[in-house]
Amino acid sequence: MSTHYSVTGRTAILRIDNPPVNGLGHATRKGIAQGLRRALDSTDVDAIVLTGREGSFSAGADISEFGTARTTAAPSLGDVIAALEDAGKPVVAAIDGTCLGGGLELALGAHYRVATSSSRIGLPEVHLGLVPGAGGTQRLPRVVGADVAADMISGGAPRTARELEDLPGQRLFDRLVDGDVIAAAMELAVEVAAVRPLPRVRDLSVGRDDTAAARATHERLRRRSRGFVAPAEALALVEKAGTTPFEEGLAEERKTFLELMNGEQSAALRHAFFAERAARKVPDVRPKTPARTVDKVAVIGAGTMGGGIAMTFLGAGILVTIVESSREALDRGLDAMRRNYQRQVERGKLTADGLEQRMALLTPTLDYADLSDSDLVIEAAFEDMDVKRSVFTRLDEVAKPGAILASNTSTLDIDAIAAVTGRPGDVLGMHFFSPANVMKLLEIVRGAKTSDDVLVTAMAVGQRIGKTGVVAGVCDGFIGNRMLARYRDAATALLHAGATPAAIDSAAEHFGFAMGPFRMADLAGNDIGWAIRKRRYAQDPGTPREEISDALCEMGRFGQKTGAGWYDYAPGGREAIPSPVVEELLASFHAEHGTKLRTFEADEIVQRLVFALVDEGARILDEGIALRASDIDVVYIAGYGFPRYRGGPMFYADTMGAAHVLSGLRRFHGDDGWEPSPLLMRLAAEGGTFN
Ligand code: NAD
Repeated sequence: MSTHYSVTGRTAILRIDNPPVNGLGHATRKGIAQGLRRALDSTDVDAIVLTGREGSFSAGADISEFGTARTTAAPSLGDVIAALEDAGKPVVAAIDGTCLGGGLELALGAHYRVATSSSRIGLPEVHLGLVPGAGGTQRLPRVVGADVAADMISGGAPRTARELEDLPGQRLFDRLVDGDVIAAAMELAVEVAAVRPLPRVRDLSVGRDDTAAARATHERLRRRSRGFVAPAEALALVEKAGTTPFEEGLAEERKTFLELMNGEQSAALRHAFFAERAARKVPDVRPKTPARTVDKVAVIGAGTMGGGIAMTFLGAGILVTIVESSREALDRGLDAMRRNYQRQVERGKLTADGLEQRMALLTPTLDYADLSDSDLVIEAAFEDMDVKRSVFTRLDEVAKPGAILASNTSTLDIDAIAAVTGRPGDVLGMHFFSPANVMKLLEIVRGAKTSDDVLVTAMAVGQRIGKTGVVAGVCDGFIGNRMLARYRDAATALLHAGATPAAIDSAAEHFGFAMGPFRMADLAGNDIGWAIRKRRYAQDPGTPREEISDALCEMGRFGQKTGAGWYDYAPGGREAIPSPVVEELLASFHAEHGTKLRTFEADEIVQRLVFALVDEGARILDEGIALRASDIDVVYIAGYGFPRYRGGPMFYADTMGAAHVLSGLRRFHGDDGWEPSPLLMRLAAEGGTFN
């Protein structure tokens, strides 16, 4: 039974009990409807309290039902809510913990609402590419006003009951309590037992705050949700709540909900949601493998990455010892962290006290002996195998037994690093992305000897510090950077064939990438890739030259930091302005090479870029570097600005069909010697999918 019915005095208590989150699946909806009918039919009952489990009123629809017949099986959530709202006896919702999505819609169908002040209230459907489908867009504006509702529904972020209670003119809650919410709801139920007619949210009018601030909020919402369909639909529906009769708004909401549910974006966003969940499991590791305790962390190197990694742990309230090789580097690193925090304070994202609290958790040192009590050490020193070897040799001497030794290397062989220690089972890669205190992705690189509990601990630590962890095997570039190299090659090939950086970037950004490849390169610094290329050219004179990129760097055009790269920048500016110098560089390259210039449609540009990712992703999957195609999707969404509403490169390939991807790649590569990945060929032949 996922609902329980009991009677105390003359009040019926209807309790939703569907662990873990009180999802409103078909059986639960039926249970609520039956319980309500029983209470209404009983001559011993005057009022009904509808409640959930402690910590969860209800987190909403049961999304595992999406796409099955059970989602639409009667009674629908809309039916249940209508039955509550039209009930002839008062219904009081008693809310504690999560009250989200369908859970909030259900509560809005009750005549009265009592909540604990810490309850989390929200309509997060946009995150799955949807709008609320059971009246949320029409009822919420009636109790919190159109503007707050627009923000909550279009942005999807929950608020605490306390925050909402403090809004002027709110009518969402009748009472807020800090203690026993059911007792408070029972009390109210007795008080209102004889009230008629019963108050219904649908009968209220929509308040609005047509101020400049509210308009700015809407504008921000629109900008932030660039490319996403659902947030704009949500705004339009909230607007409707204020201008059309309730029933009409409800019908419009239903129609939009169904369209979105059957659309491509919601399918992609639901895939992304399930992909993130799946990434937390490693198939060959025993499910309940206990994690090691991590209370103290040490970071080696206070450079770009070390500082950001330290900040991530400090932000989670974890003690950090940061070790540098010189006083100057240590001071520089600490200054950079403090300045970074200072900027957060200036932007109102951190308080001055918060800054000091974080810095107080940090122990800077030049002595490796100071990390002897650390549970986890993350090395972020120079990207050089000799440096890594000497650091890990030293770590092996000073770290306590059982400490986990991780490297943040982007490219180097974790097994070779582990081999210099006497405890390779305790070694693995924890690959953060720059800026490490901001970027969500964490590649957890499992070495050949990494023990299961070390892997499990790194994954748990990742979650604790708010990262999206994905397990990768050892290879050059792991999952993300290995694919990125192919993406960059595809961008360079387009350039060589006559497309301009602006055309390529604009196509990629229109597709939904956060930034096109050339704007991205200007932001990251063109000199980094140049240094790597020069090393390769020296090692292997046969390495094909990236003439245009090399020429750009020879002019000192390293990107934003030098005020010029693939684009020009105004001093200190970030706006990419097409550059006549680059135009000239390209023109002379094409003249010299006799390029047959042609124009490239945006579609072709995108396919060349994305299919290159897919081809390399297929190899990564085939080699077991990624555990599943969906892990690759998570890496690209969380770490590389791939549009979430397209589900990641492998999901996108599935929507296109492997045969289509393969024939596109064959066309783009012509006779340059490229061979398709065996997995892509297999799937193309069988009509199979990656996911
Ligand atoms: P960085 O040059 O900014 O910082 C490295 C720091 O390590 C310097 O401050 C240096 O003084 C210190 N250091 C060097 N040897 C040391 C030693 N033996 N003991 C203690 N400190 C030492 O480099 P970074 O960009 O922060 O990169 C660090 C690591 O992170 C590299 O392995 C790099 O490949 C990896 N990484 C970098 C990025 C990025 O975007 N920068 C992203 C992911 C991973």
